[in-house]
Amino acid sequence: MSDELLPPPSVDATKCVGYGLCHDYASRYLEMDDDGITRVRGAAGGVAASDAESIERAVAVCPAQAITWPGRLVDSG
Ligand code: SF4
Repeated sequence: MSDELLPPPSVDATKCVGYGLCHDYASRYLEMDDDGITRVRGAAGGVAASDAESIERAVAVCPAQAITWPGRLVDSG
């Protein structure tokens, strides 16, 4: 198994417009708060390598470019 733990994503709450598109791909790591703004799930801790594509899709689909994920920039090779 090669399911290493990558850094968690972050969401800029000042940019998020709350449509929730990202949740279609990464609801395991992202949730909506009471104000309708996406937050990183507190218990996430990190992103399983096997979920990397889910996070990348969430980043790509966000119309506000509110999600950043340094994990995808890490070259572990
Ligand atoms: S896709 Fe972007 S703007 Fe929409 S809820 Fe997710 S973080 Fe917010």
